Amino acid sequence: MEIRENVPLANYTSYRIGGPARYFIEPASDAEVQAALAFARERALPYYVLGKGTNILISDKGLPGVVIHIGNGLARWEIAGERATAEAGLLLNTLIQRLAEHRLGGFEILAGIPGSVAGAVVMNAGAHRVFIGEFVEAVDIITADGKFATLAGSELGFAYRSSIFQEEKHIILRVHLRPVPREPEEIKATVALALEKRRLHPQLPSCGSTFRNPPGIPAGKLIEELGLKGTRIGDAQIAPEHGNFIVNLGRATAQDVYSLICLVQARAREERGINLQTEVKLWGEFENPPA
Ligand SMILES: Cc1cc2nc3c(=O)[nH]c(=O)nc-3n(C[C@H](O)[C@H](O)[C@H](O)COP(=O)(O)OP(=O)(O)OC[C@H]3O[C@@H](n4cnc5c(N)ncnc54)[C@H](O)[C@@H]3O)c2cc1C
Repeated sequence: MEIRENVPLANYTSYRIGGPARYFIEPASDAEVQAALAFARERALPYYVLGKGTNILISDKGLPGVVIHIGNGLARWEIAGERATAEAGLLLNTLIQRLAEHRLGGFEILAGIPGSVAGAVVMNAGAHRVFIGEFVEAVDIITADGKFATLAGSELGFAYRSSIFQEEKHIILRVHLRPVPREPEEIKATVALALEKRRLHPQLPSCGSTFRNPPGIPAGKLIEELGLKGTRIGDAQIAPEHGNFIVNLGRATAQDVYSLICLVQARAREERGINLQTEVKLWGEFENPPA
């Protein structure tokens, strides 16, 4: 297992932003994930589990610990009867396609969400009121202290863009799913509809929705009402097409994006009394802009 040092992370995030990881490991088996965890533990370093990096803003200063990238090395799948198992690094879109080939589906409306299966489970990814969590039967994990375990779907605390994995430092190895029988034509039509809707989204590098929807109003609508669409700091911009997307116009730094996030939060608080929470995860150090 190769352990690389000082690996720039911008190529591993959909923002195309991120400083270097002190150590960077891409495990290709359960045992290698365990070894990567042991490597971090022996050096008392923090570890970060990176999927496709489509929901993470990584500091320009990088990360002082061990980045464990769960990618192509852990991306196999198996479909038997009406049960499916996907390794953590498989693309959610690939899983949707493979299931369709077996006349299975249920969450094909999530087509176009650009992350991995594990990232989708951690975030309880959803679209059009369908959430991946509804289809998860169990997950195989490795705990922070290196033990293998299987957790049932009912133990995973799924809620809006949330699961226990956002509090616990478990690493997901495999996801067992319970899809439902679907006609291939029906799946094809739903996927086409999902992708068509996404064509209206900003196409520049981003993390999709920046903020969770607060009660009562979609975050994007709130940001639009605050007159913030198009606002720019450095090369980071609140997308003119969609208030909840912050896009990288080319050379945005993580600090540019973070400063925009703070600006939106301050305006939402001052003008509407709303505390906007980020959906995107912030990794590493950021500087708070002057109040
Ligand atoms: C253009 C665009 C559109 C999007 N549209 C949607 C949408 O419609 N709906 C939606 O819900 N999301 C959307 N997203 C957000 C994002 O794609 C999802 O949250 C996705 O599920 C994240 O998967 P990932 O593999 O990229 O995870 P990452 O961003 O790599 O990680 C996200 C979190 O999961 C953790 N994680 C990843 N893999 C593992 C693992 N194996 N074990 C333990 N923890 C792990 C990470 O530590 C991190 O906390 C969009 C993003 C973009 C860029």
